[in-house]
Amino acid sequence: MFPSPFRAGSADVFWIVGVGTHVRHATTVLPGARPGGYWVPTVCEQWIRWPFDTVSDRTPESKRITERCPTCTETAEDRDWSGSDWDF
Ligand SMILES: [Zn+2]
Repeated sequence: MFPSPFRAGSADVFWIVGVGTHVRHATTVLPGARPGGYWVPTVCEQWIRWPFDTVSDRTPESKRITERCPTCTETAEDRDWSGSDWDF
């Protein structure tokens, strides 16, 4: 399959730290597509609570979290998905 020009430069998945968790899971849900507190499915078929936006002059707590869920990582690699970390 050829990469679609519409996808070029954009991520297939977003690595997100759910509320109350300390690991990044991948999700195909776009940041901004759900309100904070909403339950969203991850690539590894778990559910995370969508983070709330951080007050604009503060650094999001999740910024320092770099650990990624191994199941999501494996799936993303298998499917050759690109991803980017996202903090709210
Ligand atoms: Zn995961």
